[in-house]
Amino acid sequence: MYQIIDGKRISQEIKDELKERMEALKARGESRCLAVIQVGSDPASSVYVGNKKKACAYVGVDSLSYELPENTAQEELLSLIGDLNGNSRVSGILVQLPLPHHIDEEKILLAIDPRKDVDGFHPVNVGNLSIGRPGFVSCTPAGVIQLLKRSGIEIAGKECVVLGRSNIVGKPMAMLLLQENGTVTVCHSRTKNLKEIAKRADILVAAVGRPRFVNHDFVKEGAVVIDVGIHRNEDNRLCGDVDFDSVAPLTSAITPVPGGVGPMTIAMLMSNCVLGIQEA
Ligand code: NAP
Repeated sequence: MYQIIDGKRISQEIKDELKERMEALKARGESRCLAVIQVGSDPASSVYVGNKKKACAYVGVDSLSYELPENTAQEELLSLIGDLNGNSRVSGILVQLPLPHHIDEEKILLAIDPRKDVDGFHPVNVGNLSIGRPGFVSCTPAGVIQLLKRSGIEIAGKECVVLGRSNIVGKPMAMLLLQENGTVTVCHSRTKNLKEIAKRADILVAAVGRPRFVNHDFVKEGAVVIDVGIHRNEDNRLCGDVDFDSVAPLTSAITPVPGGVGPMTIAMLMSNCVLGIQEA
């Protein structure tokens, strides 16, 4: 029988630990403040931003919210980021993505002070991760590592296969697994023999952005499968990159969607906000 890795429970456990940590920090007169910037009113972004503010309130992190109109000029956004970089009360800055097309996303992310880049997207933090220096780590892959560790799954020495090489999931995921002494293979849309490579994995991480792409042909008996994908299926229900029903019986442990990786992303954002830059 396989283990269902319960991201909801583990993320709650992390938020409760952080809440306690925040109480101790406050007792010493310290505070943390996350500035969240949203440009436009994309409904999905509004839900994400709302959840982030709720998590801040739960953990005890102050939050500042900037809801800017869709037609905000890039210069205006850069100037706000400049102000927040210089504001000593603000310890974390988050710009909700995606941004409207007239704004250059890369320019915006580069403008955030790397010491306040709680999303871990700034090239300085990405570089620090790749050479094992302290820095902010991208929240979703950091959440996957916590799921594995807190479920008692050993990474060291394991064959780890990451499906996907995006800057925010696949690449940092591979770096983190490597740091945990896994033997890591990264696959992408040009990979040949994808199924054969995936089938070598003791730990398979699916981050391809394709609903139920990973079926039983991709999975070795006894593997651990982590599903990063989030999609809405034909019935408007959430599903992942993994075809859960066909894959789960083959695995020793698997994350569900919803309730797996999803809740971990916000928990790790809170961790970055409370703990600041951590040893990689
Ligand atoms: P992305 O930027 O679209 O990247 C997808 C990656 O998968 C790319 O590297 C792409 O390869 C690869 N790929 C696509 N089709 C493939 C195929 N047929 N065979 C092999 N590789 C293929 O997506 P992302 O931002 O990394 O996100 C991945 C998934 O995770 C999405 O479903 C997203 O919604 C979800 N997500 C969830 C959370 C969360 O909090 N749980 C956070 C972020 C993302 P190329 O590089 O060659 O194009």
